[in-house]
Amino acid sequence: MDVATAPNMATISREALQSLLDVLAEDHDVIGPTVRDGAIVYDRITAVTDLPAGWADFQAPGRYRLERRDDDALFGFTVGPQAWKRFLHRPVETLWTMRKSDNGATIEGDTSAAVKFAFIGVRACELRAIAIQDRVFAQGPYPDTAYALRRQNAFIVAVNCGQAGETCFCVSMQAGPKAESGFDLALTELIDGDGHRFLIEVGSEAGARILARIPHRSATDQEIAKAAAVIAGTESQMGRHLQTDGIKELLLGNLDHPRWDDVAERCLTCGNCTMVCPTCFCTTVEDHSDLNGLSAQRLRKWDSCFTMDFSFIHGGSVRQSPRSRYRQWMTHKLATWIDQFGTSGCVGCGRCITWCPVGIDITVEAAAIRANPRPRAGQRHGHT
Ligand code: SF4
Ligand code: SF4
Repeated sequence: MDVATAPNMATISREALQSLLDVLAEDHDVIGPTVRDGAIVYDRITAVTDLPAGWADFQAPGRYRLERRDDDALFGFTVGPQAWKRFLHRPVETLWTMRKSDNGATIEGDTSAAVKFAFIGVRACELRAIAIQDRVFAQGPYPDTAYALRRQNAFIVAVNCGQAGETCFCVSMQAGPKAESGFDLALTELIDGDGHRFLIEVGSEAGARILARIPHRSATDQEIAKAAAVIAGTESQMGRHLQTDGIKELLLGNLDHPRWDDVAERCLTCGNCTMVCPTCFCTTVEDHSDLNGLSAQRLRKWDSCFTMDFSFIHGGSVRQSPRSRYRQWMTHKLATWIDQFGTSGCVGCGRCITWCPVGIDITVEAAAIRANPRPRAGQRHGHT
């Protein structure tokens, strides 16, 4: 079947999923969910058997564990600790390497940007997070060329969630659970008396070209209805809710609210929430040189607004207290991000709740301020 006649909605078998991986592997690094160290982690995959068949994840504030499902679902979990940003906006990026030579010095840029990724199993909230990072890295006045190239080369196979986690609130952030845009192909896993199969939706011409190369048939009306019911079921099971109306004004109008002191008593300022967050993008730059003076490198590394160094300028750190650092993170995510980039910086994936060692929950913190807002009078944006 050629691209022009490929259906927009098709059905593929579990076996045909292997064909999809094989076709993509011809010119992509195929990355998908795997089980490692008791968690779902994104890694290189070559076969359907690399996927986490029969695994679900239990998540709660500060808690995560894998559990067996009573079926063989390949995508029967929500999101793990890693976000796709580790491949697009990498934890450590070599900006350049300088080598001393007889003629002076040569400077090389990083060549790893040329890699072509195919991401398998990207959730709706993660698609939204990628779109947010596109805004930051690729659509501003100074695009990050390595990010933009990796992003342009990436092929995305999304998966609509078949269940919500305890810490998920994508519905509140209008970021899921259905993949609406930003994918090449989107799967909905169906397991019933008619077998284990996937409804597959085409989201781009590249997706149509790939679909045309793998065994598929047109989806039946029943399969389309069943997939819609799966997504509706997920939507009704959201573990959490965040009331977003007027949230920017609410938070910025309560910068001296006592709840910031309350959360500061619990926050370890470990930065886990920023590391797992799929939209956090802050970095620091380090220069390294070797001991014989023949080469030097400039590296860009993920950083966190929870560290003292992050806001260090002459005379010390601007944000010295845990209170100011937590407030900076949360008000950026939910309020000032809107001024900066036109959207919320949160997609409701729940990672910051699950992976916070003391179980601090951004939805609970926002609700506590909303429940008892303080007047603006006398407010200042303190540095303490
Ligand atoms: S909110 Fe939790 S994860 Fe974030 S810095 Fe504080 S203790 Fe660490
Ligand atoms: S702030 Fe928390 S829930 Fe929101 S996108 Fe980041 S990790 Fe996910």
